[in-house]
Amino acid sequence: MKQTKLFTKTLKEVPKDETSYNATTLIRAGFIDKTTAGVYSFLPLGWRVLTKIEMIIREEMLALGGQEINMPALASKENWQITGRWDNFDVLFKIKASDNKDYALNPTHEEIVTPLVKKFVSSYRELPFAVFQIQTKFRNEKRAKAGLLRGREFLMKDLYSFHSSQEDLAAYYEKVIEAYFNIFTRCGLRENIFLTYASGGSFTKYSHEFQALSPVGEDVIYICPRCQLAVNQEIIKDQDSCPQCGNKDLRAEKAIEVGNIFNLGTKFSEAFALNFQEQTGEKKPVVMGCYGLGISRLLGTIVELCHDEKGIIWPKNIAPYQIHLLSLNKNEEAEKLYQELIANRVEVLYDDRNISAGEKFAAADLIGCPYRLVISEKSIKAGGVEVKQRQNKEGEILSLEQVVATFIKK
Ligand code: ATP
Ligand code: MG
Repeated sequence: MKQTKLFTKTLKEVPKDETSYNATTLIRAGFIDKTTAGVYSFLPLGWRVLTKIEMIIREEMLALGGQEINMPALASKENWQITGRWDNFDVLFKIKASDNKDYALNPTHEEIVTPLVKKFVSSYRELPFAVFQIQTKFRNEKRAKAGLLRGREFLMKDLYSFHSSQEDLAAYYEKVIEAYFNIFTRCGLRENIFLTYASGGSFTKYSHEFQALSPVGEDVIYICPRCQLAVNQEIIKDQDSCPQCGNKDLRAEKAIEVGNIFNLGTKFSEAFALNFQEQTGEKKPVVMGCYGLGISRLLGTIVELCHDEKGIIWPKNIAPYQIHLLSLNKNEEAEKLYQELIANRVEVLYDDRNISAGEKFAAADLIGCPYRLVISEKSIKAGGVEVKQRQNKEGEILSLEQVVATFIKK
C-alpha cells in the first residue's frame, strides 16, 4: 500500500476528550476514528489488525469444533424478560422501534442462542456441540473513557457449548482454556495473561477470566507466584489463598479482563426449556457453557502493552503490514523493491510521500510495523537497504537480493 494512496494520515491532534493511551495513539497513527464516546470506526490500518486478530481467534474456535454463526444485534424485549435480565442487566441498551415496541441491542447472546438451539435439539444424540460468532455487541456503559478497552459498541467473540452432562462440559471447558492461551500466544501476549478465578459462575462457584497485567487495568487480581494463577479482588473475600496450592502469599496487580468463560449449568436451558431426552428416555435440561473474548478490547490491550515512547510495536502475527518501506529521495529504487515484494504477496506499507526524512521516521515508529526498510543515498552507497526491526535501535544494511530472499521466504 502506498501512503500517497492511503486515504488516512497520521495526525498531530487527537480529540481533547480522549485520554487513554490506546485510543490517542491509534487515532494519531490513523488506525481508528472516534465518532462519539465509546464508538469508533476502524480505518484501513486498524481494520487489517482487527481482522488478523479475528482470524487467529476463528482458527482456534474452529479447531475446538466450534461452528461459526452470526446472530442479530437486535433482540425483542420478550427474550430478555424470560431470563429476568431485561430489568437486571445493568448496561442493557434499550430502544423503541417504530411499532412502539421495546427492543434490546444484545450485550451478549445467551437469550438468543438458547431458543435458537431449542429449535434443533431434542435428543442426547444431537449433543455435544458448540457454536460461536464474531459480532458487534452493545453496552450502555456509564464511563466510556478507556478507548477500545470500554466501548459502548465493541467486537466480541462468543462461543456457546451444549452438553448432556457436567462431565462432558468440564472436559470441553479445559480445552477452551487451552485454545484461549493459544490465541494470546499467537497475538504476542502469552506472558502477560493470567487465568483468574472470578465470581459469576452459575453451576460452579467461579468463572474464569483471562486478565492482562497493565497499570491501566480496571481490575485488581491477586497472583500466586507458584502456580501463575490469580484470584480477582471481587472474590478475594471468599478465596484469600491460591485455589490450586493454598498459598496465601499473593501479589496484587492491576489487570485488564480480555476474556471470561462460564460454566452456565442449566440456568439458561431451564429458562427457555431447552431439554433433551437421555438414552433412558429421561428428559433433562441441556448443560451449557459460554466463553467470551473481547476482540476490540484485546486490540486496545495489545497497544497498551506493546509500545515505547515513539509509538506502537506490533507483534508480527497481527501487524497491519510486516514491512514499512521508506524512500528518502530514492523513489525509483524503492518503487522497484516495492513492486517485487508485493508481487510476492509480502505485506508492505510504502511511504512514497514527499515529506521530510524525520517525518517518515516518526510515522514509521508511531505506526509500528515489525520491519522498517529505508532506501536512501546513504544506504545505497553502503550496499543496499537499511533494515531495522521496530524494537531495535540499530539496523543493518542488506543488499536488495538479501532483502528479497529474507522477506519472500517468510
Ligand atoms: P467488564 O467487567 O470489564 O465490564 P464484563 O465482565 O461485563 O466486562 P463480559 O460480559 O465477561 O464482560 O464480556 C466478555 C468480554 O467482552 C470481556 O471479557 C471483555 O473482553 C469484553 N467486553 C466487555 N465489555 C466491554 C466493553 N464495554 N468494551 C469492550 N470490550 C468489552
Ligand atoms: Mg467478565
